[in-house]
Amino acid sequence: MHAEPDPKTALQATKIRREVRVRGVVQGVGFRPFVYRLAGEQGLAGFIGNDTDGVVIEIEGSPPAVEAFLTRLRAEAPPLSRIDSVALRDGIATGETGFRIVASEVLGRVSTGIPADAATCADCLRELFDPADRRFRYPFLNCTNCGPRFTITRQIPYDRPQTSMAKFPMCAQCHLEYHDPLNRRFHAQPNACRDCGPRVWLADASGSEIPAADPIASTIDRLMAGGIVAIKGIGGFHLSVDATSESAVMRLRQRKRRFGKPFAVMVKDLESARRICRLTAEEEALLATPARPIVLARERGDCGIAAGVAPGIPWLGIFLPYAPLQHLLFADPRVRALVMTSANLSEEPIAIDNDDARARLGEIADIFLMHNREILQRCDDSVAAVVDGAPQLIRRARGFVPLAIELPFESPPLLAVGGHLKNVFALARGRFAYQSQHLGDLENITALDFFRESLHHLSRTFEIEPELVVHDLHPGYLSTQWAKQWAEERGLPLIAVQHHHAHIAACMAEHSLAGPVIGISLDGTGYGSDGRVWGGEVLIGWLDRFERFAHLGFVPMPGSEAAIREPWRMAFAHLQAAGFDGESSDILDRLGVTAQEARILMRMVDRRLNAPLTSSCGRLFDAVAVLVLGRRTVDYEAQAAIELEGIAIDEPDDVPAYEMDLLPGDWATREPARLDVAKLWREVFTDLRSGEPRSRISARFHAGIAAGFQRAAALARTTTGIRQVALSGGCFHNQRLARLLRARLQEEGFEVYRHFRVSPGDGGLSYGQTVVAAAIRRKVSRPA
Ligand SMILES: [Zn+2]
Ligand SMILES: [Zn+2]
Repeated sequence: MHAEPDPKTALQATKIRREVRVRGVVQGVGFRPFVYRLAGEQGLAGFIGNDTDGVVIEIEGSPPAVEAFLTRLRAEAPPLSRIDSVALRDGIATGETGFRIVASEVLGRVSTGIPADAATCADCLRELFDPADRRFRYPFLNCTNCGPRFTITRQIPYDRPQTSMAKFPMCAQCHLEYHDPLNRRFHAQPNACRDCGPRVWLADASGSEIPAADPIASTIDRLMAGGIVAIKGIGGFHLSVDATSESAVMRLRQRKRRFGKPFAVMVKDLESARRICRLTAEEEALLATPARPIVLARERGDCGIAAGVAPGIPWLGIFLPYAPLQHLLFADPRVRALVMTSANLSEEPIAIDNDDARARLGEIADIFLMHNREILQRCDDSVAAVVDGAPQLIRRARGFVPLAIELPFESPPLLAVGGHLKNVFALARGRFAYQSQHLGDLENITALDFFRESLHHLSRTFEIEPELVVHDLHPGYLSTQWAKQWAEERGLPLIAVQHHHAHIAACMAEHSLAGPVIGISLDGTGYGSDGRVWGGEVLIGWLDRFERFAHLGFVPMPGSEAAIREPWRMAFAHLQAAGFDGESSDILDRLGVTAQEARILMRMVDRRLNAPLTSSCGRLFDAVAVLVLGRRTVDYEAQAAIELEGIAIDEPDDVPAYEMDLLPGDWATREPARLDVAKLWREVFTDLRSGEPRSRISARFHAGIAAGFQRAAALARTTTGIRQVALSGGCFHNQRLARLLRARLQEEGFEVYRHFRVSPGDGGLSYGQTVVAAAIRRKVSRPA
């Protein structure tokens, strides 16, 4: 007898089954519905689910269909996702039919990730302005491809009941969308509509609602009349005024007590941005990323933006709308450009709560555009710039938090508390570090409260119980004192990391460099291993240790911290050190200093009273800026240095560099080489006296700093044979310096590494601290 082949078995024989594990940013970004649709289109059976590692997919079907699925998986992944790896395993075809999305619990431990907040997507924007759409002009529309995430989440797992959307039960229609795997709003946690979701209203400082038929139109009326409006956003309130109105901008400055620091400006779209700034392709790309950072770009002359927005510098911080409410403001043709600055007094944390906002901003804002979707995590706007052709993060906050940053090797669960200014802490475990949002300067209790809140939230989010606490070497930092106490209460070990070593290690880790490297770390101030104030350093760096190879010559910092706010003190100290007569009338005039002030300063320096020695590069920039710009004091950190860079913007790169002497040290005894700036100062003065344009003096000074550190690096290479150079520290926000030094080093045949994912400034410090501590731990646990 001859049996007919079972058609089902025959068919099954041609089918294959694969287990596909995808790692990266694949949760809360619409990945499961995407895979569901893809499997459907390819006629595949199987399932997808989230677990702690990412997503697990099993697919079954014909080999060509499986092949096509895998190709399309990478090529067509949702916009907010990022696939880091796809691992495949063969399975056995089961004859399963249909494709399912399985609940997280089915696969074991619930996933813990929370995605970052993302700007309104193109599909939602279309709906926002489509009169036929049910969400026409609804200020809170979003979908799995866009919307708030981190800022509305109370705790994990990232599910609607754990977000501030919990108090808005979905209407029948929203409910259907939310549960339909083929819908763009499938499991979009903040899904809402006008019938069931949050709303906006206008309020005065007392909290009373101001009746308005259209609160958004009324807001625009007030803005166009020169008013100051506090607008509740995604990560906090903004204070907003018409950026084209000089008087409105000045009123905001007066009320906010913020005089020099530039304001960020929001414009409607890329086209409007192009009219205000000269944008490169890289800058346009950065502006348009879903994180929508503030981007520093060259302002056009006569672009209509009030001069008081960014006084004294040629750049403007611009950004594009990222929330539907902001898009609605810009839909009105009267609105060209709005100042959108964090709603706070000077350096306090940004206001997020409606009552708190009224209490703190009542004296600043004329009215409040409120809404009732609670902001649970405070998050400023991020700031970035294109430096030397590549994007650089200056302030890490909304849109970037809490995305993981990879570590080059496994880290024990740890907390790195960061530094003092522009604080960002980091939690780490395994191959990932999670940096917090920008927390501001840790100088007061409010800032420390913000630090604690954020730590509590992030450690719960990622279920990280630190076994180790890492802090800066500076004993006086509030972060150090807090770390010591916190570790003591928990019986945890501590590791202190030198400031500039942390900077260099952060850069090394971004590029998986094990070292040794030549690390050029240039910044304002950091506590040195010798107790002095470092900041112009050439280190030989490994991940777990470093040696100091060279540094800028030490000069006194008269008045210590006061010398940062009053850079004329630094100029005076530098000129004295360079052999100038500080009491000559020429010097006094140029510094705008009285003979009395000069005498006091001289006494401080001579007696070493409150005049610590510093090798800071940032302070040298400040000092030169005092002479060149005639600026005695600053309103914000590094203002003088930033203005000095600014005036040179149209100067060519190849101006003759001022000279510095490089005094060799002795590597055998670890005696560092020294860059002496006396000659440079004499050249600055010669040019000043002969009436050289200030822009040219600035350009020659920048070239001089680059040339000096290039020579120091060359000496380090001759001495040690190392060819890799890592650049880090806040001075690398200076575009001219970053470009000149990189170019010079490459011409000399160095391999040059700089930051891409982490800030070179103190915002990147905690990532570097993490790396150093993990490297030290690794060495201890696995001795060579
Ligand atoms: Zn959307
Ligand atoms: Zn609804």
